[in-house]
Amino acid sequence: MSVSTAAAAQTVCTPLPVLGRDVTVPLVTGGEVTYAALDYAASAPALQRVWDDVAAYAPYYGSVHRGAGYLSQLSTELFENARRTVAGFLDCRPDDQLIFTRSTTDSLNLLAQALPAGCQVFVFETEHHASLLPWKDARVTYLDAPRTPGRAVQTLERALAERDPQGPALVCVTGASNVTGELWPVRELAAAAHAHGARIVLDAAQLAPHHPVSVRELDVDWVAFSGHKLYAPFGSGVLAGRADWLRAAEPYLAGGGASRRVSRREDGGVDVDWNDTSARHEAGSPNVIGAYSIASACKALTEAGFDTLVAREQHLIAKVREGLAEVPEVRVLSLFGDDAPRVGVISFVVEGWNSSHFAAALSAEYGIGVRDGLFCAHPLLRTLLGTSPQAQGECGAPEATPGEKSLNAIRVSFGAGT
Ligand code: PLP
Repeated sequence: MSVSTAAAAQTVCTPLPVLGRDVTVPLVTGGEVTYAALDYAASAPALQRVWDDVAAYAPYYGSVHRGAGYLSQLSTELFENARRTVAGFLDCRPDDQLIFTRSTTDSLNLLAQALPAGCQVFVFETEHHASLLPWKDARVTYLDAPRTPGRAVQTLERALAERDPQGPALVCVTGASNVTGELWPVRELAAAAHAHGARIVLDAAQLAPHHPVSVRELDVDWVAFSGHKLYAPFGSGVLAGRADWLRAAEPYLAGGGASRRVSRREDGGVDVDWNDTSARHEAGSPNVIGAYSIASACKALTEAGFDTLVAREQHLIAKVREGLAEVPEVRVLSLFGDDAPRVGVISFVVEGWNSSHFAAALSAEYGIGVRDGLFCAHPLLRTLLGTSPQAQGECGAPEATPGEKSLNAIRVSFGAGT
């Protein structure tokens, strides 16, 4: 039996309300349709509440920290309040530092640069490239893809047991997969890391928009996430957690704000006394609106209540999965199996279809925006698709001829925040 894009599009689209902002788009087949943006895992549409908050702040816009004027003081207060709001959203410990960055990728690169000498890093091959790749100056152990959450913990424990117990070590793990949407056993992995004297950083890029993240309850040492996946606009992210490694590290960027005092030495050079607060890693004029937007989104999600959001999202997940199950040619990708708890991120392949062509048709003919490709998680996709390691492709779509084994997949993602 062959599947038409129409049949599959119906199953993907019709059970869902239109998510995101209403945008009318022309279809290549003629007519217009209200566009269904189902690519939240890449970037979720910013909440109207966030745009409104930013607009309300616009008249008071001023440079932070170094200005004596009223607007500067107000902006500084809003910026530091944003830091407190986000720290509260993450349930950080009192001594934790919260650094505003550009994104999750930026946050993890910052942490990678702050690792103590000789640090060993443990990371599952299933991670997004943002978690997989920043550790280039460390000794990295890549762990094989586990097929159950329990196996993930065992694999980590075994690897940690073999390490040099004297040296520093860091485990990096994602909370929710950007490919399968599956939740990882973060608390158990954190316990395993700590039992072996290692620390752990949680990549919460896909978890934080869907579930409450408590640094204390999960007992993770750091957490990273991006504003643009949490219903705030592009350009800002967060790294929050233990201050000691961050204070001991060279500033991520050298420049104003990161330095407390700079003086010329007699030999002609300069001496720098670096800040040891979060300012150490926030050199230059910070993205105040970005920080403010993230805080606004955090407040909006908290007020909406995660219990309500999770229930609504689980309902949508069930509907999409039921719809996809009705098309025999659709294979939903999963590492931990059908019953694994998950967020609204569902990847699949359609037998006999090139995923890129399929995704293009969903957009052009049905006004449904999905994503196709390897989702910046090449090793995981190759495990799930069973394709050869030679398959090429960046975050986008590698070429595949129709009818060939899929080299890439289609991803539908959504959330209940809007
Ligand atoms: N980690 C995960 C699990 C992701 O899904 C993504 C982006 O898709 C990232 C990290 C990187 O986020 P950003 O592009 O905002 O840096």
